[in-house]
Amino acid sequence: MPDARLSRLRSTMAAAQLPAFLVIEPINVGYLSGFTGSTAALIITPEDALMVTDGRYTIQAQRECPGFEIRQMEMTQGLMDRVALEAKALGRTPLGVEGETITINRFQALAKQLEGFELRPTEDIVETLRRVKDEGEIDLIRAACGIVDRAFEFLLTLIRPGISERDLATEIEYFMKKAGSEKEAFDTIVASGARAALPHGRASDKLLEAGDFITFDFGARVGGYHSDITRTIVLGTATDRQREVYQVVLDAQQAAIAALRPGMTGKEADQVARDRIAARGYGDYFGHGLGHGLGRHVHDGGGLSQRIDMTLAAGMVLTVEPGIYIEDWGGVRIEDDVVLRETGAEILTHAPKELIEIPVTSSG
Ligand code: ZN
Ligand code: ZN
Repeated sequence: MPDARLSRLRSTMAAAQLPAFLVIEPINVGYLSGFTGSTAALIITPEDALMVTDGRYTIQAQRECPGFEIRQMEMTQGLMDRVALEAKALGRTPLGVEGETITINRFQALAKQLEGFELRPTEDIVETLRRVKDEGEIDLIRAACGIVDRAFEFLLTLIRPGISERDLATEIEYFMKKAGSEKEAFDTIVASGARAALPHGRASDKLLEAGDFITFDFGARVGGYHSDITRTIVLGTATDRQREVYQVVLDAQQAAIAALRPGMTGKEADQVARDRIAARGYGDYFGHGLGHGLGRHVHDGGGLSQRIDMTLAAGMVLTVEPGIYIEDWGGVRIEDDVVLRETGAEILTHAPKELIEIPVTSSG
C-alpha cells in the first residue's frame, strides 16, 4: 500500500515542480513508509526513497519499510545533520519541507548546512493525499467504529441517577481498551443536564439526574486510525421540548448524510444541515461546522463547514455531527462517521439514533 502512496506523492511533487521532498511529520512519515517508531525523516525524489533514523529503530525500519533505503544516524549526528548530508548527496533543489511542521530552528539548521540549495516550505502536501483513504485504511476505521458502537451499547446499561459523568467516561474508555482500542481518540465527553449545552464539555464530577439530556462523544483507535461518535440520550422520560430538539438534529443529520456526494463542497454539505435546523427556528443554536475529516488524526484535515471550500471525493472519511445547544437548558448532538463512495455516503457507525429514554426506577 505505501507504494501507491509514494507514487501519488511523486505525482504531486512533479506537479509542484519539486524534485525532492523532506517529510518529518511523524503521522506523514508513518503514512508514506509504514514506520511506527517515533524518530525518522524521509527524503523522496522521483527515484529515491530514503529514511533517516537512529540506531534504536534501524532493524524495525528495515522490517516495516521494505521500499526504503534506511540510513542510520551516527551517534554524533542530529536528525537534521544527517538529513542535510543525504540531501546534499542527492543534489536535488529545491527541497520541499513541510511548512506546517518544520520548526524555525530546524529550518535554519538545514539552510546553514545546505548552502546553494533552495528550501521551499510547502503546504498540506501529504495531508491532502491522506484525505482520500484506501480500503485498508477504511477497514481500520470501520474496526474502530465497531468498538464505539459496542461501547455505546455497554454504556446504556450503566446509566442511572447518581452516577458521575467522570465514572461513565472512565467506563467507556476502559471498555474500548479491552475491546481493542489502542487509546482513546480524545478526552471523552460526557455532558449532562445544562452542561449538554457545552459542545465540548469534558466529563466532570456532576452526577446524573433524572430528566437530564446526556451527550456522549468518544472515539477509539485501531492501527493508528480513529473513530468518533456522539449520541445524546435522556435519563427518564423526555419532555416535549427535548423530543422536538432531538428530532430537529436527527432530521438534519440524516438529510446531510443522504445528500453527501463526491463533487459537492464541504460548505454545501454543511448548508444542507444548517438549512434544516434554521427552518425549524434553531439556526442560532448550531454554532459549529457539520463535520471533519477522520483518519490518523481525529481532525484529519478538510471537512464540512462554512469555511471549507474543499471538494469532496470518493474515499474521504468524514464525520457528520450537527447539534443544537441552548444555554442553561441543554443540548443535542448526533455524530456518525461515513466514507464517501461514488454513489453517496456509507455509514460506518451503527449505534441506534432514535431517541433513547433510560427508565428511572424508584427502587434504587
Ligand atoms: Zn465527536
Ligand atoms: Zn467529531
